[in-house]
Amino acid sequence: MKCLNCETEFDGNFCPKCGAKEGRKLTKDTKSEKEKARDKAIQDVADRVVSTIEKKREERNAKREESGSGGDDPLEGIID
Ligand SMILES: [Zn+2]
Repeated sequence: MKCLNCETEFDGNFCPKCGAKEGRKLTKDTKSEKEKARDKAIQDVADRVVSTIEKKREERNAKREESGSGGDDPLEGIID
């Protein structure tokens, strides 16, 4: 039969190339609700970290514009 995921011809229950089960397409929907919730939690944390970094960068840029210097920021060199 033909793998629906990667279109490899194979005999057996699992595609030898991508590991997809016979007749089944590998999608994110094969994940359990628990896995989805965990992924969402991870994504939420990642989003929060990114927005925090963006905020700090904006604050730093604003400070730099005010004072004309910006070499004393401990985050200097970590973010950029
Ligand atoms: Zn496959």
